[in-house]
Amino acid sequence: MIDETLYQSGTKPSTIFQLFEYGLKQAAVVGRENVYDYSLGNPSVPAPQQVTDAFQRLLGQEDPVSLHGYTPAAGALDVRQSIAADLSARSGMDIRPQNLFLTCGAAPALLYVLRALAVAQAEVIAITPYFPEYRVYAEACGMRFVPTQADLDQFQINLTSLEDCITPHTQAVIVNSPNNPSGAVYSRETLQRLAEVLARKSREIGRPIYIIADEPYRELVYDGADVPFIPGIYPDTVVCYSYSKSLSLPGERLGYFCVPDGAADSSRLYTAACAAARMMGHVCAPALQQRVISACTGIRPQLEVYDRNRRTLYDALTSYGYRCVYPSGAFYLFVEAPGGSARAFSDRAKEHNLLVVPGDDFGCPAFFRLSTCVDSDMVERSLPVFQRLAE
Ligand code: PLP
Repeated sequence: MIDETLYQSGTKPSTIFQLFEYGLKQAAVVGRENVYDYSLGNPSVPAPQQVTDAFQRLLGQEDPVSLHGYTPAAGALDVRQSIAADLSARSGMDIRPQNLFLTCGAAPALLYVLRALAVAQAEVIAITPYFPEYRVYAEACGMRFVPTQADLDQFQINLTSLEDCITPHTQAVIVNSPNNPSGAVYSRETLQRLAEVLARKSREIGRPIYIIADEPYRELVYDGADVPFIPGIYPDTVVCYSYSKSLSLPGERLGYFCVPDGAADSSRLYTAACAAARMMGHVCAPALQQRVISACTGIRPQLEVYDRNRRTLYDALTSYGYRCVYPSGAFYLFVEAPGGSARAFSDRAKEHNLLVVPGDDFGCPAFFRLSTCVDSDMVERSLPVFQRLAE
């Protein structure tokens, strides 16, 4: 007998990948240059040269047996040492290799941490608009997924709504800044106020409410925006990170979760999340990737293309009458759909080979998402279509 819930879930493919595949098919019919695909958050700038050099050096010089061999489940100690040193230098906190567990990207890191917190009746709060997989992971762990609406003017956290969602079963709040899909970066002041609310509610319910800081876009910020390291503001924070976006390596799968010493029950939480990883088939993160990352922890992303696309799209779309918040980070623009239904707008756009992601899966059906990690020429070619659709 097949698990019916999983079967039903498998029959509903991700809207983003459906659009992406549609784009590939249309490109064969109308030509690649006539498809304006804003669906996927796949970095469009190549990995930095230092990353390529590290791959080549390692493949040329290292003993292939040990290079490709298993590492400890948490990752090779020297690799975790490099990452911990970089993280400590940047955050001003004392992060040790023992706080880090290397994973195949941020996605499984989130899943393992959620699973570690999935006690009976557990609830996890996410701020709408949210990365759609949060719901999938929380529900897979048996947790109740509780979305709370951000303020739609700036996509900052609405603390009153968030506080109203907290119950004695709340285990964690997922905080994703810079945010996919809104591009919002939560200010230090907002995070401090969030910390005050969570500290007070934790005292009330008699146990910690954790923040799970999902930070794959940590370094992708513009105009000098500040991205505070949340454990420095709220100690009961677990950080999930990935090199997918910052080093343009999404297919290579490397990230980590970090449970700092200052988090409540840090050692037990770390151990439980390690056990969750094992239970879900984690053996170790890709060994070659670990070595590459170890050599590249100090490298920051190249932002020029994303920044140019962000400015071009924001300026053009707002001049055509679209409404959207100017993103401070990540590589997305979240735009209010003319007519109010993003799904209807996305369908209409598709007829012009313009692929935009309706916000339904992000919990915001009145908005659509554009991934700005695309070719800048495509952006220019697509503008007349946006203009026509706004009329
Ligand atoms: N979290 C957010 C907000 C994302 O946008 C993504 C990927 O797009 C992930 C997590 C997963 O990233 P990874 O490729 O590291 O698994």
